[in-house]
Amino acid sequence: MTSKLPIAFGIAGAAYLAYNCYAPTSQLYGRTTTHCDNPKHLALTYDDGPNDVHTERLLEVLARYEVKATFFLIGRFVTARPQIARAIADAGHLLANHTETHPNLLFLSRSRLVHQFSDCSKAIADATGVRTRYFRPPFGARRPTVLQVARELGLEPVMWSVTCYDWHRRATADSVLNHARKGIERSDARGHIILLHDGGHTNLGQDRSHTVEATERLLQRYGKEYYFRRLDQI
Ligand SMILES: [Zn+2]
Repeated sequence: MTSKLPIAFGIAGAAYLAYNCYAPTSQLYGRTTTHCDNPKHLALTYDDGPNDVHTERLLEVLARYEVKATFFLIGRFVTARPQIARAIADAGHLLANHTETHPNLLFLSRSRLVHQFSDCSKAIADATGVRTRYFRPPFGARRPTVLQVARELGLEPVMWSVTCYDWHRRATADSVLNHARKGIERSDARGHIILLHDGGHTNLGQDRSHTVEATERLLQRYGKEYYFRRLDQI
């Protein structure tokens, strides 16, 4: 019986370490930004774009409420749709790095990590002239080397504190809003960074109309109580 204990601890330990590779607010593998310092601030962040037509629809909603957000773009989609990346930048939103092809970074060598970050930064710079300062790992997956390489390239790693599960196959505007509400109304001395998706990482053209609708309802619901800010103003 007792001889099995170290194995049990080993498995529990491995599970704990693996959990921390993905847990959005864990700091075990290095410091990341997970919240806004100001409890009255909310930061809307959109991953996996640019994505026609949902990114453009989202830009219309954000413009109507005069709110600025942060977009974590996939480099290869920026190269395919540079005009949408430019529209995001021209509207005053913050462009950020979500790697070139959206791989799981846990399994990449240091040199492939460097390529993923710099190819994405270059795609964004070529399309818009913007130099990116923030980075979010695909699937939230990181290990110490991932964060270290990002910092060496001048990129600040950003995670999130509210998950809306809008990538789920059966997600609706209601389900997205419910997850957002639970997160936002959880008492916290800090403001929240909200994870949403205007695209899907496997291909362009994925339907994100539920995210666009949920965004509009979030802005209606919380616009008076909170300030919506870009990640460089939280
Ligand atoms: Zn992603």
